[in-house]
Amino acid sequence: MVTEGTPTIKCCNPSTKQVIGEVPCMGLSEVEGLVQKAAEAFESWRLTEYHQRARKILKLRQIISSKAEGLAALISTEIGKPMVESYMAELVGPLDTCVWLADNAERSLKEQLVHLDNPLLLTKQSIITFEPLGVVAIISPWNYPFAIPLMTILMAVMTGNAVVLKPSEKSSLIGIKIAELFEEAGFPAGLVTVATGGSSTGAHLAGRKVQKIIFTGSVAGGSSVMATAAAKVTPVSLELGGKDAAIVLPDAPVDWTACGIVWGAFTNCGQACASIERVYIVKGEKAEQLISQIVDKTKKLKLGPGLDLTTDVGPMIDGHQLAAVAKQVEQARASGARILCGGRQRDDLGGYFYEPTVLRDVNHSMAIMKEETFGPVLPLMVVDSEDAAVELANDSDFGLSASVWSSNLSRAENVARDLDAGTVFINDCLFSFACPQVPWGGMKKSGSGRSHSFFASVEKRVGN
Ligand code: NAD
Repeated sequence: MVTEGTPTIKCCNPSTKQVIGEVPCMGLSEVEGLVQKAAEAFESWRLTEYHQRARKILKLRQIISSKAEGLAALISTEIGKPMVESYMAELVGPLDTCVWLADNAERSLKEQLVHLDNPLLLTKQSIITFEPLGVVAIISPWNYPFAIPLMTILMAVMTGNAVVLKPSEKSSLIGIKIAELFEEAGFPAGLVTVATGGSSTGAHLAGRKVQKIIFTGSVAGGSSVMATAAAKVTPVSLELGGKDAAIVLPDAPVDWTACGIVWGAFTNCGQACASIERVYIVKGEKAEQLISQIVDKTKKLKLGPGLDLTTDVGPMIDGHQLAAVAKQVEQARASGARILCGGRQRDDLGGYFYEPTVLRDVNHSMAIMKEETFGPVLPLMVVDSEDAAVELANDSDFGLSASVWSSNLSRAENVARDLDAGTVFINDCLFSFACPQVPWGGMKKSGSGRSHSFFASVEKRVGN
């Protein structure tokens, strides 16, 4: 709700450019109020038993399932992604996370007795226990506006923490909806709340007395949050950008590889941290056949509004992102890249649309091969050898995920081990973000710390 005189942020449907809502841009005192309420809620929540937390989380799951259609429609309206992606990439991960946490959290986080082997320590005993941290600040992006914050909140809450979420200003309505779902499921008041607003609201939250900050977003945003957190020595986990490479070996199955790469590049209109943003095809008999299949499949993708059930690729989030991507493509074209398909802004469709684009004759002097491209662009390079492909894939400031495509699994695995990335997929890409069991996180400028799985440290280890 917006009261008169409060600064606000307008929420927009990127498929139509229409305003669909308005939310408060919270200032310091409002954010401080939410953190205090969370700290109060934490005091009793931390004492609840795992099975009590699990029951509430399973209730939440039931509510999400029963509202799936409305939630998917809200996500497709505010972000523009096709409905099928709202179901598959936004709802499935959180639903699975609820079950996984309910089934495994207590067992996995039970006390551990440590054996001290040194004979001089025979009379000593050491036990590691896992305790909640307190108030966790979660600052999240717009591109997976439901799954990213919700999976992180679920892990934090299941381990006994309270959460203040700062959703992206581009997905505020979805952020507000997440807090409403927790309320409806009967979680204590104040345990999960939402601070709407832009980067200044995020900065206020990062500067409060919280026990952990989990930031997902751009490198610039992450490093600024880290600097703010340093003043209070608040631990920070950073999930940042990517420039994910796919390496295709000469024996890769052509059709499967082309399907996988086209999906990995254009899902969510290429606006995924781990989308495939560069492909190195090791020279071989099937290289040209693969390229033409990638182009054919890309040309068949239907661009359109998120709510249209026939849409394959939705709009970009806003004019700013669209202009940045168009600029990278134009720079590459001016430096000699060839556009095999796409390469045009589609104002005629009414929203922020850009055609799925495939490029070749690119090289590492171009921004399109070095900087993050948060849009539907797939640059391809044919290279002489596996070693050259690995060297180019590692020639990046980023290291989020990567993929290797081959019929020979042990050869692919050897290549995978040489890649500097938090996750390497073989004959696949992207999907593991939705799996709560698997750690997620990057190397280099893609971030530090891990979210998901029991490597997501939303609890402290206490030894004695
Ligand atoms: P962004 O950095 O602009 O914003 C992310 C969030 O941080 C928003 O809520 C924003 O309001 C807030 N924010 C921005 N600057 C801040 C500051 N100085 N202090 C506090 N809060 C601040 O990123 P975005 O455009 O929303 O998201 C796209 C980026 O996120 C891409 O780089 C993408 O690769 C990355 N991303 C990474 C992952 C991952 O798991 N590694 C997942 C999704 C997105």
